[in-house]
Amino acid sequence: MALVPGPYRPYTSMGLPTYTNHGPLSQPERLKIVYINDTHEKYRAFPGLVSAFHHFQSQAAQEGRDVLKVAAGDWNISNEPQQLELNILLRNLMQLDFTTLGNHEFDGGTHMLGIALKKANFKTIATNLIMTPNSEMYKRYLEQKVITGPAVFRAPSGTTYGVVGLAIPNVKRLLNPDAVVDGNGTLPLKESIARLEQDIAYLEGSGINKIILVSHAGYDVDKKIARNVAGIDVIVGGHSHTELKGIVPDVNYFRSKRGEPVMVVQTGKDAHALGVLDVSWDPYGRVYPTKNHLYNPLLMFPPDPTANALIDRYLGPQKPMGWITEDVSTENARSGGENIVANQVADAIWSTTHADIGLLRGTELRSDLYKGAFTDRDLKTLLPFNDNIAVFQMTGADLNAVLDESARCMKAHEGHPGMVHPSRNLRYAVDLAVGKTISAQYFNPKTHQWEPLDPQKKYTVATGDFIAKNEVEYPVFKQVPIVQHLPFKIRDAFGWYIQSLGGRPPVFPLDGRIQAINQQESQPEWGSRQPLANQNVSATPPWNAFASAHGYSTLQTSLKKESPRSLAVSA
Ligand SMILES: [Zn+2]
Repeated sequence: MALVPGPYRPYTSMGLPTYTNHGPLSQPERLKIVYINDTHEKYRAFPGLVSAFHHFQSQAAQEGRDVLKVAAGDWNISNEPQQLELNILLRNLMQLDFTTLGNHEFDGGTHMLGIALKKANFKTIATNLIMTPNSEMYKRYLEQKVITGPAVFRAPSGTTYGVVGLAIPNVKRLLNPDAVVDGNGTLPLKESIARLEQDIAYLEGSGINKIILVSHAGYDVDKKIARNVAGIDVIVGGHSHTELKGIVPDVNYFRSKRGEPVMVVQTGKDAHALGVLDVSWDPYGRVYPTKNHLYNPLLMFPPDPTANALIDRYLGPQKPMGWITEDVSTENARSGGENIVANQVADAIWSTTHADIGLLRGTELRSDLYKGAFTDRDLKTLLPFNDNIAVFQMTGADLNAVLDESARCMKAHEGHPGMVHPSRNLRYAVDLAVGKTISAQYFNPKTHQWEPLDPQKKYTVATGDFIAKNEVEYPVFKQVPIVQHLPFKIRDAFGWYIQSLGGRPPVFPLDGRIQAINQQESQPEWGSRQPLANQNVSATPPWNAFASAHGYSTLQTSLKKESPRSLAVSA
């Protein structure tokens, strides 16, 4: 079916006002924008976020300001209908006015998303959304829950604001091909900007000169829009996970080509922060930001009990699986180097699959670990994706290509596709000056020696099978055979590892398996680490029970090379 853009039609929430230029105002018009982006289903933080939205709503009332509450996409991350619905009910509790669509909103397909949006009390706004007639999204469009043009937002004070939305352009390139999107998608960047300009022209033609863009195009694109698209006053952005604090010229405060000020805000990611921007407009529609603060919803606001109860109702009470003794960050796992959680997850993949090597893409890790009980909900927040593990057959040359791409991402600080983390029997050193892998060694279980990856030799490599389906990331995985699809996910593998500790907290060591060096100044220091020290796991490995429960008897046999390997590490 050919893709057709949705009909272009402005939406008005309360009927387009007859807006007359009322001349200079005695009081500047004042707005508080409360914003979030890329919250990625961080349920731990959401009850605090709900309280925070309520708090700033009443603060705005006390200050005599209008308030606009927006979320700039990537709220979702999973593809389960029940969670999509929960996410929408939580946004209703926050009394959000507008959200736009990030790439993760498409994870489960727009069919499922469209159905879930029936319950939304907020507007989803994206000028560049492509819809096919009769799709569920299109039905929401007809119900004016989804808007593909400019929206007019009239605050109780009577002041009228224009709101425009930009979903992530060309979303197809980031999609899981399994997602059912009914031919829906988003326009490429250039066409998206052209529609944005039409929206703004429409609003300005209607006499509306206070315009807010909700965007999931990323910081670099938002900056270009701020400078090159006239008429926008504030851009609430997302996708690039950029934390923009304060009001800093040429960082988040720009001049448009008309010479008017434009403010760009973004909170970072994972509900680490909620942003509050106070702005005023002069009678000519020029915006003046007076305050832009980020607040930590976990630390600063008491959890809202209604939100807590709602989350428990949808996700069930949390089941403790283990214990974490200190907060552990996964912040650097996408491009920053070796990470202790990534190490353990890669080891869990290796141990449960019995492939030669386990690999974890850093982008799989979507949360930090927090001190205290580690629950099934924490596990799902850490590893939310539902793709199963597959075992690929790769030559050493194929693996070197993967590690080179990883090195390039480390040099460029690129989170997409991001770096890979190996199990502890593979180690590699990256020359950060050139973004190349200069040494990669595999621990040969027969000789008990580290040896360079042999370009000719075949290795079995276990990792999430998303990489085989995604169009653009790590292309080598599309060219090599898959020797086995396993019936479990990375999340299961790590969960079994945590359970196998029987309540003992995991010890998270860095073992130097990824080294970032400047080759001109130093050489990798590998030390004399033996990765396969044979320690015993006291509990019966839970994956045996899983295998028999699922009628899957080959977990231990088809790829088995030796007895189950211990993941325990000596303290
Ligand atoms: Zn995104």
